[in-house]
Amino acid sequence: MAYKEDLKNPVDMYYSGEYEKQEQPYPGIQSDMKPVPDSGEKSYVGHGRLQGRKALITGGDSGIGRAVAIAFAREGADILVNYLPDEQKDADSLKELLEQEGHTVYLYPGNLGDEEFCGELVREAVDKLGGLDLMALVAGRQHAVENLEDLSTQQLRETFEVNVFSLYWIMKEALKYLPEGSSVITTTSIQDYQPSPNLLDYAATKSAITAFTRALAKQLAKKGIRVNSVAPGPIWTPLQISGGQPQSHIPEFGHNTPLGRAGEPAELAGVYVFLASNESSYVTAEVYGVTGGNHTE
Ligand code: NAD
Ligand code: MG
Repeated sequence: MAYKEDLKNPVDMYYSGEYEKQEQPYPGIQSDMKPVPDSGEKSYVGHGRLQGRKALITGGDSGIGRAVAIAFAREGADILVNYLPDEQKDADSLKELLEQEGHTVYLYPGNLGDEEFCGELVREAVDKLGGLDLMALVAGRQHAVENLEDLSTQQLRETFEVNVFSLYWIMKEALKYLPEGSSVITTTSIQDYQPSPNLLDYAATKSAITAFTRALAKQLAKKGIRVNSVAPGPIWTPLQISGGQPQSHIPEFGHNTPLGRAGEPAELAGVYVFLASNESSYVTAEVYGVTGGNHTE
């Protein structure tokens, strides 16, 4: 029967074997990973759910952000994607893929740890897209350090600046432009709920993101702007092989989840699309977990 062809077992729907150890300098290039993560390039099918929307996506070159970029574009949104200059290769391949399909994609690289740049990025998006009504704030950095004694103040500052401060800087500027009906989506983590001993700085930024998201949602509710967050579990992306995990954790990455494997970025796209669209009109100040079973509460 036809429906059975669509019935897929989540346990073996994606790669579930051991990963080869592999290290890249931060921020990492997705197309150089083995296996290359699946951001939905061949699989995501749009249904016009974001027709006419104007979206800014941070961290959109690779991983979860790339899956969001592909999904938003195929759902009908025009997008502007931010990433770091070192990631031009991933960003170019995204633009090429989506432009071939007839979508509108702008690229704007730069460091989110810089307050001035965050303002510039928002103004660039408004200028290029002719407005802004959808924010997918996905960028983040993660560097594992075994012992607190070895966690430098520089790393502490950079992790908080990129993961947390940038949200304040971007949203302060964006509020000048976002019309009612807009949706803002941040990216927290399972690390907010189950922090790892080697991610003291990163896990704390993810708790801060959740609190920021919920408080901002309450502040903006009367303006008709919804703010939600997505909490991924272990997802196979460049962040993990460019310092996010010690190499010894790479082979078994994600295997300790009930589904027994790491997630792929493509498996996150649907939640971002839902939170972006009017289908989630009564959802705000909420966090959606996509964790392979290591639930968030
Ligand atoms: P990724 O490496 O593909 O994406 C992270 C992106 O952040 C990079 O592509 C880069 O463009 C951007 N970034 C990093 N530092 C930046 C800076 N200084 N300025 C501008 N951009 C910068 O990895 P990913 O796993 O898809 O990460 C996306 C988000 O998901 C992050 O917020 C991460 O914390 C979160 N997350 C990931 C996992 C996971 O297991 N992969 C789990 C929970 C949460
Ligand atoms: Mg990247």
